[in-house]
Amino acid sequence: MEKQRTPDGGPLRRIVIVGGGTAGWMTAAPLGQLMARVDPKARCEIVLIESPDIGTVGVGEATLPTIRFYNRTLDLDNAEFIRKTQATFKLGIEFKDWGHLGNRFFHGFGEFGPAIQNRSSVMHWLRLRSMGGMDSHEHWSTATVMALRNRFVPPDGDAPSAANAYSYAFHFDAGLYAAYLRDYAMARGVSREEGTIVDVSVRPGDGFVTAVTLDDGRRIEGDLFIDCSGFRALLIEGVCKAGYHDWTHWLPCDSAQAVPCDKTAPLTPYTTSTARSAGWQWRIPLQHRTGNGHVYCSGYTSDDEAGRVLLQNLDGPALGEPRQLRFKTGMRRKTWDRNVVAIGLSSGFVEPLESTSIQLIMDGVGRLIELFPDKRCDRHLANEYNRRMAQQYESIRDFIVLHYKLTARDDSEFWRYCSGMSIPDTLNHQIELFRRSGRVTILDPDGFAEPSWVSLLLGLDCWPQRLDPLLQQVDERALRTHFERLRQAISQTVDGMPDHGAFIDRYVRAE
Ligand code: FAD
Repeated sequence: MEKQRTPDGGPLRRIVIVGGGTAGWMTAAPLGQLMARVDPKARCEIVLIESPDIGTVGVGEATLPTIRFYNRTLDLDNAEFIRKTQATFKLGIEFKDWGHLGNRFFHGFGEFGPAIQNRSSVMHWLRLRSMGGMDSHEHWSTATVMALRNRFVPPDGDAPSAANAYSYAFHFDAGLYAAYLRDYAMARGVSREEGTIVDVSVRPGDGFVTAVTLDDGRRIEGDLFIDCSGFRALLIEGVCKAGYHDWTHWLPCDSAQAVPCDKTAPLTPYTTSTARSAGWQWRIPLQHRTGNGHVYCSGYTSDDEAGRVLLQNLDGPALGEPRQLRFKTGMRRKTWDRNVVAIGLSSGFVEPLESTSIQLIMDGVGRLIELFPDKRCDRHLANEYNRRMAQQYESIRDFIVLHYKLTARDDSEFWRYCSGMSIPDTLNHQIELFRRSGRVTILDPDGFAEPSWVSLLLGLDCWPQRLDPLLQQVDERALRTHFERLRQAISQTVDGMPDHGAFIDRYVRAE
């Protein structure tokens, strides 16, 4: 039998990033930072290729709180970042019309108060509610109270208190963010090549990619190739044929139209997601404009109708024509194959309902740095990377499917399909566990935590029939007093906070 050729070990000498969208530059920036810190003799060159003829998706505008850790790792100046990307703060997402027409709830970032005797606050709240006389749990989510009163200041790390227990993310202009990171990466030695890749060279035997050829004939060699080519998946699918897990039967939306409109006051510190008859519409407030998009299923509505619904539901005049996008929900069977690692849309896509794509990019590049290979690209490293990416993708998939499955809407064929469809076993387990015991299971330790699951389950009217028996150990009267005091403390703390827009003006001008 012919022995498979494996490349010699030894450190990588050149990494080639294919694509200069959000994924490409979010990958280049930390790699550039890493290489700028290592001894020049051991340094690995990083080259990013972007095509002037193939545009970027450019619609990723809402994020999750971990974006702050990513920015902090890069030592970005917060005020400069906010100014350069026209960012606003995001305390969570307001959902409208999801459970039924007229239903609204908020998925805020952070807890519903401090844990009591090792059980989360919201579980104690559920107990009191079952006994009667409790208002909505949202009064105990500081992020939600702030969001609905349009207030914002960052939590005070020096003086933490129960009323201060919230987190936040950002909304930003994706094009400006990519440009900001491009300057950052290039200042740290990342080089940029402009051209369209027309050919890929593969080594016989092991199938490793050795070089890509651009339309002007230039050939760029590398030891590791990071495929950030977006939905095209130029290397991971085009060359490696990694395959795709298609999740369309669980998440049938396959199209979107996006259009910005004039901004309106007040500047809200949250994303809004409003369910429509064949999908949902987002509203993302930025400093200079408001981003909007309609995600829908082409099997249940036409593009013309989807565009009409989008334009009918804007805050102000549209700034241009809606942009049409198509996608297939799912993930690559392997996101790292041989010496190709897919990051961004080339690795898969789950609709942007909870702003998870940029999170997947950050975690993808973080894991790659953690599992940084030598020239052999040992398959065990790839297996570990693939295992963790699959765990994260599946956990996100379940969380998003939950939004659709628990609907009580029956006013359109689309919603009747969603409420009646089969769901992944893992999600079925999650829903049943909560219904029967009030417990939440966490499949991915880096994914959505208990408060997020509970916000969605309760928001969609899924209530536990029984609760953790150990909750009974806490005295009921003392518990009611605790909740009342906490509610007042949150309300007073939030009343003392500045208006979100005013805070941004002050913060950005303070530079
Ligand atoms: P792209 O932006 O498509 O970039 C691909 C790059 O590859 C381009 O630079 C292109 O020039 C280059 N390229 C392609 N082919 C070649 C070639 N042959 N030669 C050379 N270069 C090539 N994410 C969030 O986190 N939050 C959100 O709110 C959000 N909203 C979204 C809404 C919609 C409707 C969609 C579809 C996505 C949304 N996303 C969101 C996802 C987010 O937009 C993407 O994760 C992000 O933009 C990364 O895209 P990318 O860089 O992988 O691909």
